[in-house]
Amino acid sequence: MSKKAIIYLEPSHNTIKKSCFELVQWCKDNSVDFDCFAFGPIEDDAKKACESFGVNKLFVLGNEKKYNPLSFANGLTSLVKEEGYNFILGSFSVQSIDLFARVSAQVDGALASDCVDLKLNGENLKPTKPLYAGKCTCDVEFTTNGPQMVLMRPNQIKSAEETTGNVELVNKDLNSDVKNFKALDPIQGDGNKIDLTEAQVIVSGGRGLKEAKNFSLLEDLAAVLKGSVGASRAVVDDGWAAHDMQVGQTGKTVAPSLYIACGISGAVQHLAGMSSSKVIVAINNDADAPIFKKATYGVVGDLFEVVPKLTEKLKSVL
Ligand code: FAD
Repeated sequence: MSKKAIIYLEPSHNTIKKSCFELVQWCKDNSVDFDCFAFGPIEDDAKKACESFGVNKLFVLGNEKKYNPLSFANGLTSLVKEEGYNFILGSFSVQSIDLFARVSAQVDGALASDCVDLKLNGENLKPTKPLYAGKCTCDVEFTTNGPQMVLMRPNQIKSAEETTGNVELVNKDLNSDVKNFKALDPIQGDGNKIDLTEAQVIVSGGRGLKEAKNFSLLEDLAAVLKGSVGASRAVVDDGWAAHDMQVGQTGKTVAPSLYIACGISGAVQHLAGMSSSKVIVAINNDADAPIFKKATYGVVGDLFEVVPKLTEKLKSVL
C-alpha cells in the first residue's frame, strides 16, 4: 500500500494514551506506512511507551504544555501538507475531536469520528460508525481527494503488541503567536485514576446503590479487578458521583473488556455509552430491567449482597 498515515499520540498523565497504540498496531497489521506525532514536551515515559509499541518516527510539535487549539491545529496542518500524509488517525477524545475537526477544514480532508471499526477498502479507509445511540452502524466511504481522517473509539480494535526498538524524535516548531486566544491552566483530574475511556474493567453504579457512600462497595470491587468506577447519569445528577464518571449518551462512551453494571436499569441513554463493551455483567434485583437484554451475564439479586461476595471471591482467586 502506497498510502501513508500519521497517528496522533495523545498524552495521558506523563505517558501516551494506550488506545493510540492500537492504531500503530492497525497500521502494522494492514501494511500501512506510518509516522506519529505528539505535542511537546515529550516525557521520558512517553518516549519509552513509543519504543515499546513499535513507533519508529515521532514528530514532536512545539513545547507548549497546554492545549492550544489554534497553534496545535496549524502545526499539524503544516506537517500533513509538508509530508503529504493520506491518512490521519487518532483515538477519539474531547481534545482529538477538536483538533481533527479544525485540521480537516484546513487540509480539505474528511473526518469520521467515534468509529468502532476500521478496514481498508483498496487504497481507502473504510471506518464504521455507530448511529442512533448505537442502535445500528454504518460504513463510511470517503470521497475526498484530501486526507482521510479517522478517530477510533478506544478498545475497539486489536490491542497493541509490545516490542522493542528505538524511536527517532523529530522536533518541529509551532507558531504560538495566535490571536484572540489564551490557553488557561488545565484542571488536573485525579492522577491515580485510570480514565474511563481507557479502562479495561469498569464497575458502574446507579440509583440502586441508594446513597453516595455505597459507591465504596464498587470501589472495592474495582480495586480487585484493577478497574475504574463509573456511574449512571441519575447518580451524577444527584451528586453521588463526579461528572467525569458518567457513562452514556451525555457522558463518556466506553468499551472495556468487562463492564459490571450494579443497580443500573439500562436506559437507552446509558446503553449508548457502554453497549460495545466486550463482556457486560448486570446485577439488578428486577429481573425485567432492560440492562439484562444487553448483558452477557446477569445476576438477579440485591447488589448489597452480591457485590461484597463477588469482591471476596475475586480477592481469593486473583
Ligand atoms: P434507575 O433507572 O432508577 O434504575 C435503578 C435500578 O437499580 C433499577 O433497575 C432497580 O431495579 C435497581 N435496583 C434498585 N435497588 C437495587 C438493589 N438493592 N440491588 C440491585 N439493583 C437494584 N443516563 C445515563 O446513565 N447516562 C447518560 O449519559 C444519560 N444521558 C441522558 C440524556 C438525555 C437527553 C436524557 C433524557 C436522559 C439521559 N440519561 C442518561 C438518563 C437515563 O434516561 C436514565 O434516567 C438513567 O440512566 C437511570 O439511571 P439508573 O439506571 O441509575 O436509575
